[in-house]
Amino acid sequence: MEKVKADFIDQKYIETLLMQTKSPSLKEIEDILIKAQAAKGLTHQEVASLLQIESEDTLQRLFKVAGEIKKKIYGNRIVLFAPLYISDYCVNNCVYCGYRRDNSFPRRRLSIAEIQEEVKLLEKMGHKRIALEAGEDPLHCDMDYVLGAIDAIYTTENKNGAIRRINVNIAATTVENYREIKERNIGTYILFQETYHRPTYERVHPQSIKGDYDYHTTAFDRAMEAGIEDVGGGILFGLADYKYEVMGLLLHNDHLEEKYKVGFHTISVPRLKKAGGMDLAEFPHLVDDATFKKIVAIFRVAVPYTGLILSTRETAELRKEVIHYGVSQISAGSTVGVGGYKEQAEGKGTAQFEVGDHRTPLEVLKDLMKNDFIPSYCTACYRQGRTGDRFMQLAKSGQIQNVCGPNALMTLMEFIQDYGDQEILEQGEKLITREVKKIARSDIQALVRKNLELIRQGERDLFL
Ligand code: SAM
Ligand code: SF4
Repeated sequence: MEKVKADFIDQKYIETLLMQTKSPSLKEIEDILIKAQAAKGLTHQEVASLLQIESEDTLQRLFKVAGEIKKKIYGNRIVLFAPLYISDYCVNNCVYCGYRRDNSFPRRRLSIAEIQEEVKLLEKMGHKRIALEAGEDPLHCDMDYVLGAIDAIYTTENKNGAIRRINVNIAATTVENYREIKERNIGTYILFQETYHRPTYERVHPQSIKGDYDYHTTAFDRAMEAGIEDVGGGILFGLADYKYEVMGLLLHNDHLEEKYKVGFHTISVPRLKKAGGMDLAEFPHLVDDATFKKIVAIFRVAVPYTGLILSTRETAELRKEVIHYGVSQISAGSTVGVGGYKEQAEGKGTAQFEVGDHRTPLEVLKDLMKNDFIPSYCTACYRQGRTGDRFMQLAKSGQIQNVCGPNALMTLMEFIQDYGDQEILEQGEKLITREVKKIARSDIQALVRKNLELIRQGERDLFL
């Protein structure tokens, strides 16, 4: 078979662009930010210029514009999810990862019964949406095992229902395998590029299947060919120059838009954290907090309709800040090890990397609401066929607001009824009462009021 090259990531083009935009004037930056306010995205040149911002005043201006765009498109909703690690076997040797094959620790994969146990613990915390995670190992973690895991997750119910959306984050694979995953009715297929910089990519993935830059970078082409419409990209910040990475991801997004009419559904922004067998000091491109905030804000203005995902790698303080001007989905109550939810309490297990936010979902929710955010457990879009291009059209026309807001309130009502203590019940009812009044269309407002009452009386899984 002919090897497909990922030549849409043009190293020379990115490097030239970054050189040419090296010192933009204040006027140029201001003009770009004014254009950004229309929430229609920016050109490569414009994004490259924004990446050069250093002064505190200009950064604050960028955050303000990003915050306005965020508010306009996402309102004050924040979607919650949790990762579920099913296997830490890995044949790769990614130099940054605790699971790499050179690290010696007792590896394992969860049996179906163990997966069900983990899912019950996640459901007990109120989760409805999970990200399935696994190392790459064709022998110990083959496709049949992954498919069986997906089936087990969707069919494990507690008294309040089951997990309603599984996003899958497994290694790059074939069109045939993507087709099988697609048939299992997944939400988004997620794969982090790690780094778009080919020489760095090859260096940090020595002697391994994952080390093939072209195969990895064209994974979403195969996923789209297989009919998966919602794909989620990401960069592991800290491996190469962040400016290069942001431009690389945007070129990747454009490639998908041009070829398949839809770009990334989500972008994840993990930062490199300490992991077993690696020393952070060996990575010269670590991104500090100030730069990280700038990156999030730039993604928000560059691709306004693409969800931005932040994990518990980051501390509670930082997460609280970046949800104001960029991030639309966060994980909560996460463990990042196989069997982690069971072992969490026992203090056992091997984590993939260190976690920065240790709060429970209940604590995260209370905090979000105190800051006027609406926590959402909505999973409606893909279940209503709002995927790929259809989702983007609805999002860009603003019509998506007619469903996202109401669905957030209904799923929050479920949460406070099923998992809340007295404090969150009162907090939630107050917030929901206030927000329902803001629903502009009177027919939708009436329907939501009716549904909220039905949920109070015990009905579940109502959505628009
Ligand atoms: N094994 C698959 C892969 O590598 O694509 C799927 C999931 S892997 C469990 C999830 C992600 O964890 C990787 O894509 C990588 O970006 C991230 N990761 C690995 N080591 C990390 C570290 N030390 N700090 C932060 N994130 C890390
Ligand atoms: Fe394996 Fe993924 Fe870790 Fe690389 S990042 S060692 S592929 S689990």
